Amino acid sequence: MSCRSSCRSSAWAWESFNLATQRDNGSPDDTTALPIHIHGLTKKYGDLYALNSVDLEIKSGEFLTLLGPSGSGKTTLLMAIAGFNRPDAGSIRFGETEMIFTPPHRREVGMVFQSYALFPHMSVAENIGYPLKLRGVGAEERATRVAEALTIVQLSDLGERGIDQLSGGQRQRVALARAFVFRPRILLMDEPLSALDKKLREQMQIELKHLHTQLGVTTVYVTHDQREALTMSDRIAVINHGELAQVDTPEAIYNYPANAFVADFIGESTMLPLTMNDSGQLYFKNQVIADVPANQSVGNWLLVVRPERLFVLTDDTGVQEQTFVFEGRVRETVFQGETAFAMMTIEDQHNLSVRFGTSTTSISNQLMPGDRVSVGLHREDAVIIPGDS
Ligand code: ADP
Ligand code: MG
Repeated sequence: MSCRSSCRSSAWAWESFNLATQRDNGSPDDTTALPIHIHGLTKKYGDLYALNSVDLEIKSGEFLTLLGPSGSGKTTLLMAIAGFNRPDAGSIRFGETEMIFTPPHRREVGMVFQSYALFPHMSVAENIGYPLKLRGVGAEERATRVAEALTIVQLSDLGERGIDQLSGGQRQRVALARAFVFRPRILLMDEPLSALDKKLREQMQIELKHLHTQLGVTTVYVTHDQREALTMSDRIAVINHGELAQVDTPEAIYNYPANAFVADFIGESTMLPLTMNDSGQLYFKNQVIADVPANQSVGNWLLVVRPERLFVLTDDTGVQEQTFVFEGRVRETVFQGETAFAMMTIEDQHNLSVRFGTSTTSISNQLMPGDRVSVGLHREDAVIIPGDS
C-alpha cells in the first residue's frame, strides 16, 4: 500500500518538527548521554490533570519506559520532554540545564512516532540524511553517517529504495535511523512498534534493545503493552491518571508491585483481602500472612497472588512451614499451549487462578472441574499492598 496520501499529514508533522529541530546554535557533535530530571510537572487540559505533579529522574544512558493505559498521560509527558507542550508547572532539566522554556529545536532530541512519519517522496537514504542536511552537514559526511545508520538498522542494501517499497518493519527502522543519525543525547519513542504484527514487534523489541546498548543514548520509550515494557526496559515508570504509580526495574515492578493498580496492570494477579488483629498481624483465613509494615497508617491490606507462583499440593508434596495453604475447588481448566491454568474458588468465596507448565507429567492434566485441592504459596512469594481505603 502506498503511503503517499495516507501518510501526508504525519509527514507534514514530521517536516515541521524537523524544521523546528534545526539547531541554530550549539555543538553538533556533543554526543554525551544526558540525564533528565523532572520535578513537579503538571499539565492541565481544562479541569483534567493530564500530568499531576510528576517527579521522575531518568538516568544518563538508561532505557526508561513510560507504561500506562490509554489516556494516562504518556504522550503528554513525552511531548513535554520534547518541548511540544508547555506544562503549567514544574521543571524539566537535561543535565544541569533547565529546559522548560527552551523551544523544541534547541532541545536536540531524536523522536520516533507510531506513524513513522517518513517522507514518501524521498529515498530511504534521503529520509535518514534529512536531519543532517537541516543541520548543515556536508554531503560527504552525510553519506558516511547515513551509511553507518543504515548498517546499524540492518538496511545497508536498501538506501536507494523508495519508502513505499518497504515493509512496515523496514519503515520503522528507517524512522529509527532518522531519529538517531544526528546523534541526539536523548531519544524519545512514542509507541513505535504498535503498528507492527506480533512476531515482528517482538523481533524489533530485541533489536531496539540492542540498538540502545550500542548507542548508549538516554531513551524514554512509551508503550501501553506491559510485556513490551518488561522486555525492553532498564526501568519502568508506571503512569495512571497523570500520576506515577511506581518507578522501578522490570523485576521489581513485577515481583513487588507497590499498589493495586500496578499489580493489576502488570501480569496477572489475584488480590485477597487481609484482616488485621490487635497485635498488628495480617490474616487470611486464620493464617498469619505478615506483620503490618512499620510506619504505615493504612488500614486495609491485600495479598497479591501471581498465578504462576501458586502450586497444587499433592500427597507427596511436603508442606513446609514456609508455605501458605488455601483450600480450593476447581471450576475450570484451560489449556493455552506452553501453559495451562485452572480457575478455582478458594475458601468457598474467592476466585484464584493457578498457572501450570504443560509437560505430560503436569498435574494440570489430572485436574477436573469440581475437584477439591489444596493450593500452596511460598511465603517469600506473598506480597502485600495497601488496599483501597
Ligand atoms: P496517553 O498517551 O497515555 O494515551 P495522553 O497523554 O495522550 O495519554 O492524554 C492524557 C489525557 O489528556 C487524556 O485524557 C487526553 O484525552 C487528554 N489530552 C491530551 N491531549 C489533549 C489536548 N490537546 N486537549 C485536551 N485534552 C487532551
Ligand atoms: Mg499516547
